[in-house]
Formats: sequence, structure tokens, C-alpha cells
Amino acid sequence: MPSTPKDAAAIILLRHHTDPKNPEVFLIKRSEKLAFLGGYHAFPGGQFDATDAEVPVANCPDPATRVAISCAARELFEETEVLVARGGATLTAGQRVSLLDDLQSGRMSWPTLLKHYELQLDAADFTFVGRWLTPPFSARRFDTWFFLVNCPAKQDPRVSEDGELVSGKWIAAGDARASWERSEIIAVPPVLHALQSLAAGTEDTETLVARFLASPNAAGEPVRRIEFRPNYICFPVRTPTKPPATHTNCYLIYTSEELLIVDPGSPYEDEQQALAQCIDDLIAEGRTVKEIVLTHLHPDHVGGVNALRAHLGEGLSVAAHRLTAEPLAGSVRVDRFVADEEVIELAGAPRISLQALHTPGHARGHLCFHDERTGTLLSGDNIVGLGSVLIDPPEGNMREYLQSLARMRGLPDLSVIFGGHGPAIANPYAKIDEYALHRLDREQKILQAIRDGARTPADIVAHAYTDVSPKAHALAERAVLAHLEKLVADGLLSQTPDGETHTSSTNN
Ligand SMILES: [Zn+2]
Repeated sequence: MPSTPKDAAAIILLRHHTDPKNPEVFLIKRSEKLAFLGGYHAFPGGQFDATDAEVPVANCPDPATRVAISCAARELFEETEVLVARGGATLTAGQRVSLLDDLQSGRMSWPTLLKHYELQLDAADFTFVGRWLTPPFSARRFDTWFFLVNCPAKQDPRVSEDGELVSGKWIAAGDARASWERSEIIAVPPVLHALQSLAAGTEDTETLVARFLASPNAAGEPVRRIEFRPNYICFPVRTPTKPPATHTNCYLIYTSEELLIVDPGSPYEDEQQALAQCIDDLIAEGRTVKEIVLTHLHPDHVGGVNALRAHLGEGLSVAAHRLTAEPLAGSVRVDRFVADEEVIELAGAPRISLQALHTPGHARGHLCFHDERTGTLLSGDNIVGLGSVLIDPPEGNMREYLQSLARMRGLPDLSVIFGGHGPAIANPYAKIDEYALHRLDREQKILQAIRDGARTPADIVAHAYTDVSPKAHALAERAVLAHLEKLVADGLLSQTPDGETHTSSTNN
């Protein structure tokens, strides 16, 4: 089951006296350390707080909107020091900082602070421009209210660099959008939609708001076609995959002339139809489908191949590594083998060429695809946007997996990783390091468990996976087998004929 979205608010802060034809907006960059959307460009915002319900808002009859406005004002203040409240114009910058300190240290709650300083939130200062739902492919989901807010005169937003945000800047909406088009920044669909809506001009508020609300996604319909980066559509489809994931990402990579389809994984007819519709739309714009490529053999990545071929024509070629194609024989026909370092070039503009990297570990024939020009890496199931990667022998191999992670780590100038599950990863190197460290840390715990006398995989799990829910222990036993194989291959363990393991130091 996809997780339930939490209420949140975001503020699109517009600069005072900005050029209405190309208004400036305050764009922040989220810290690469954040687990959720780390490294993304976004607007200030955050989750509702229990105290938001206690804040009075003038000119706002609707209780739900009142809470959302309180949240928006509070988050904006906490993240940028900008205070949008009537009665706040007389406060100096120093006084605002001291108020913020009262709030953040817990000396005063948000409602108390507003009351104490006779500050009044007014709905007239917050223009509602839509509510967007995080699609169900993410474990963390939000139902986010977006508000346009004019930055009060004499206030300038400031971002403290040690927190969740690393930087913030005023930028013309059109320039920010162009920066995304040049593959320089990663942002979620509502942010891109806002930049696009603002770039068309803010002279007439009514027209502007209508432009924002024209998207059905602004009324809470989840986005299906997610373009974190131009020409790379992430299209999550529901699959029978491993929790917490509920969806597998199919990628549609397109130029003006061609379209490449990576991992159409859903066995469900409604999902196959939704994907086929998106592909048909891209074809209707004058493109031809080059081929389907598969990252690896798992059912949640290949489950929709036959249906898509039936839809697009049996002549459509499917390409995969030989070690993916062979085990699939009889269920999915693979027409062409893709070898390590082979380059798949798409005709048309922009220039997109993807180099295949044979990166076994999760599966023997696993392929990643690297677009060097934009620093984009399609990582299949080697790195995913949520949950962890299962290394299950004999298909899985921990030693090879770590070597594959090291190979990915060595790619120059990566700016985004598109994984087989979950949102795009905008902090690629931090994420790869986190993955490698997590495995090495687990390996140490397993070695310690063996030194402490654990012998069977179940025993070792009981000692070394105390941080993991017992429900996941059966899967953890598979991972332990993979670790044991690696430790034997590394010479750190010797394996006795009955399968018992001993650390080499005690055995030799
Ligand atoms: Zn897989």
C-alpha cells in the first residue's frame, strides 16, 4: 500500500518590485544530506505543525486554509527569516532574528509569539495556487498547499547554511526554468510548473492564478509523467515489488525523433494502458520507438514487456545483457544483447547517448546507463530512491555489487541518479557512498556475530540485524548469505564442508 500523504505548505516568494514580465522568485537548494529530495531545488516549506491550528488568520473563513496559511507563514519565517504578518513592518531585522530564536529554542510557540508581538496573519497576503500530491512511488508523501507571497518591503530572505537548506537566491522564474532545461538543476513537477507559470508574466493576478490552477495536478491529481530532468520521463507503474516500494520506474528517454523505453515492469493491465497512453502521446508528436532496454531480469522490471510489444507491434526490439536474456528465454523474447560499454545513441535533438555499464551484484546481467553529457545515470536496482537493495545469491553477489558501486562512484560529474524505484536522486555521490558504507558496516556486524559464536544465517541475522524489523529477517538471511560468500572470497572467512563459517583468524 502506498503511504498516506502528510499535509504541508510551500511558499513561492516573489521579490518586491520585481519585473512583472520576468518576476524574481526565491529558490532554495535542499541539503544533500536530506533523505527526502536531498540536493533538489525547491521553495521554502514544510509540514503542518499541531500549533498551526491555533493561529487566527484574518479574512479566512475556511478552517483548513487557515491551518495551511499558518504553516506557510511559519515555515517561511523558520527557513528564510521573512515574516509575513500584519504589524510586522515596524520590526527591525535584529528583532526578527530574536523572534525566530524564541520560536526555534521553544521559548515561545508560534501562536504565542504572534499574539505576544501583536502580529496578525492575513489571508490577503497568501494567494492559493494549488495543492499537489507526491505520487505514490515515494515512501514519504505530502499533500502540499502552494501559496504565492510577495516578500514584504525591507525584508530579504536569508538561509542558514547549517540546516536543511544549503542555499537560497533570487532568480528570475524564466532563468530558473531555463537552468532546468539545461539539465543544471533537479526539481519536482509543482516547482517546474510554478516557474513556468510565473515566467509567462505576473501583470494580471487573476490570469496568473488561473495559469497555476490549469493543471489537473494542482487539484490533487497525482502526476504520472515526471520529468525531473528534461527528456527523461520517469513513469512509475504499480508492480508486485518489494516493500516499501509499491511501484517500479519505467523511463522514457526521448529526443525530437526517437524514444527509448527502459524497464516497462507492470503486469497490471490498467498500469500498462497508462504507460502505453504516455508512449502513444510521444509517438503522436512525431517520434519512433527505438527499442525497449532492460536493466535486469526481475519480474517487476520486465512484467510489462510483452503487453507493450503487443501494443506497439511485434517487430519492436527488446535489448538486454546476455545474462538477463538467457534466464528470461521462454517468458520474454530478447532480440539483441547489450554488452558492457556499448553506446546507445538516439537520433534527433538534444544529443542523447547512453553508455551501458555491466554492473552485476543485484543481478548477474544488470546494466546501468550513463549519459555523460548531462551527468545522468540510470541505475536500475543498484541504487534506488527508496528502500534498500536486496543482494540475493546466487543471482546476487555482494563482492560484485560493491565493485559495481565503486565503478558508478568513479563516473565523472554525475548530477542525478534515476533508480528503479522512488524519486530521482539529486545527491548522487553522497548516495553511492551511503550505500557502500551501509554494506561495509553490515559486514563488520556480521563478522562480529560470527566471532561471538553465531553460525547459521538465522543466528547471524539475530545478532547483526537488530536494527531491522523481524518481518524482514527472512530477506536479511538472503543478504547474510551474500555477505558470507564475499567474506569467503575475500579470505576473511573459511567455510567448512558442512557450510559452517569460521573467521579465518580463529581457524588458521
Ligand atoms: Zn531487481
